[in-house]
Amino acid sequence: MTADGHFQVPLPINEPVRQYAPSDSHRKTLKARLADLTDARTEVPMMINGERRGGASKGDLRSPHRKELSIAQYAVGSVKDFDDAISSALSARKMWAATSYHERAAVLLRAAALLAGPWRDTINAATMLGQSKTVHQAEIDAACESIDFWRYNAYFGDQLLRQQPLNDASAWNRFEFRPLEGFIFAVSPFNFTSIGANLPTAPMLMGNTVVFKPATQTVLASHFLMELLTEAGLPPGVINMVSGSASEISERVLNHPELAGIHFTGSTDVFQMMWKTVGANIDKYRTYPRLVGETGGKDFVVAHESADVQALRTALVRGAFEYQGQKCSAASRAYIPQSMWKQLRSDMATQVDEIPQGDVADFKNFMGAVIDGKAYAKHMSAIEYARTNGAATVVAGGKGDDSVGWFVRPTVIETTDPDFRLLKEELFGPILTVYPYPDGKFEETLQLCDRTSPYGLTGAIFARDRKAIRTASETLVNAAGNFYINDKPTGAVVGMQPFGGARASGTNDKAGSFLNLIRWTSPRTIKETYAPPTDHRYPYMDAEPTDGP
Ligand code: NAD
Repeated sequence: MTADGHFQVPLPINEPVRQYAPSDSHRKTLKARLADLTDARTEVPMMINGERRGGASKGDLRSPHRKELSIAQYAVGSVKDFDDAISSALSARKMWAATSYHERAAVLLRAAALLAGPWRDTINAATMLGQSKTVHQAEIDAACESIDFWRYNAYFGDQLLRQQPLNDASAWNRFEFRPLEGFIFAVSPFNFTSIGANLPTAPMLMGNTVVFKPATQTVLASHFLMELLTEAGLPPGVINMVSGSASEISERVLNHPELAGIHFTGSTDVFQMMWKTVGANIDKYRTYPRLVGETGGKDFVVAHESADVQALRTALVRGAFEYQGQKCSAASRAYIPQSMWKQLRSDMATQVDEIPQGDVADFKNFMGAVIDGKAYAKHMSAIEYARTNGAATVVAGGKGDDSVGWFVRPTVIETTDPDFRLLKEELFGPILTVYPYPDGKFEETLQLCDRTSPYGLTGAIFARDRKAIRTASETLVNAAGNFYINDKPTGAVVGMQPFGGARASGTNDKAGSFLNLIRWTSPRTIKETYAPPTDHRYPYMDAEPTDGP
């Protein structure tokens, strides 16, 4: 027997951020778990139909800040594994779609509680080791943001189900929120463990089943997330995690007639490739696949002459260099009045050059290493480009050291060319390019900022003057999906600043909000008529009265 009831999903609250100060007891347990995982060389299997699979061969995962340190041996799947993952998702679909919303939400809420408690150190430590995050960066991402995604989505999904059509006296109209017909492909980036926690689970919450491919650099943290979700009661086959060659996985998934949606976060190029493949295959699919992708950014900070210079400097340092600038929202270009830049330049250079950087196991560090050798080469070549270009000067940083790990010093570049290449392209590293604009040319600079890069993710205006804030807000209306006034452009919090951007930055479906969940449901409208008519004729067809005999 199933019991009925309109269950109230608990009102979400954001997970408090632990500080890990020297006197904090959590610091000790976290450090112990970090030490365990450093030496463990964890075996990371795929998870297909609830079974842990070793794969056709093994890959070796290294720590970016200690490139000789092997932290995991992960399964490299074969085409058969990828096909099995798809079949497993399709087989679990009927059971999962028939599972009531409150039971699906209960899995997420339980997972959030497990992550807030017994799994927290493990997921944070795996993120520190695999992605070179400091303890603070790991805590706000791997622990807090993942927990927030799960708690808020459980709540928002419930709110969504309450949206129902209107009725008159003749019938009862209902929306039935069906999952999409087929399976969902979730593909996550290297830079946020929480995105790996959200991309497969948001469609899952709405009753879908999923093939999940995490970024290779995150397989350790993703493996623990899968184990945690299993402990939380996620049935076999609902989320199937695969690892291996991204293009081989894509080939199997994107050509499958039952692909019902893609939930992607990563670079613009990869998402556009997926979109093109789906477009080319459009007549093969059973249904139009939903495409949700949050992609690259070239996030800006514009300062008005009325800005508070200390606040601006702090926002630039934190916004550009936390997590080595590898946040899609990281400040990577700044427009500052020339006279203000003169005041700020040397102060900022000193502060940036003093930033402690190194192994994230040493809690004194503010920054770790960039993700891998490819990223390191890209950043060093961009810095070299600036150093040898007549229109640019390296003001701070500009050095790298790859002897132990992939360390790129936080770098500030100043340019006199408003079309300088590094103001346009996403680098995804600790490089901030500043264009000091002529004093008094604020409005022209806003227009310049708007047209310089193809992206539209995040941006910030620093000003005390309300008119300047208004003008910036209007001129830059399409330049950022997350717009900040007197704050850094990073650090969006689930439920507080729903995240995403348009233009080349994505479909702007706002992760961690009801807008995202809408994409994973295909409502059926039901009209149930109480007393159906029994005569097909309408009154207008009746005979008119005659005028009498
Ligand atoms: P990436 O595009 O290299 O990889 C993302 C994912 O796509 C990975 O899992 C990767 O293995 C997979 N992939 C790569 N080639 C593929 C293919 N041919 N088929 C299928 N999957 C494929 O991105 P990344 O380096 O991991 O992450 C950095 C990028 O992500 C940056 O551009 C950043 O701006 C973006 N990002 C955006 C947001 C956002 O919310 N807008 C958030 C985080 C990161």
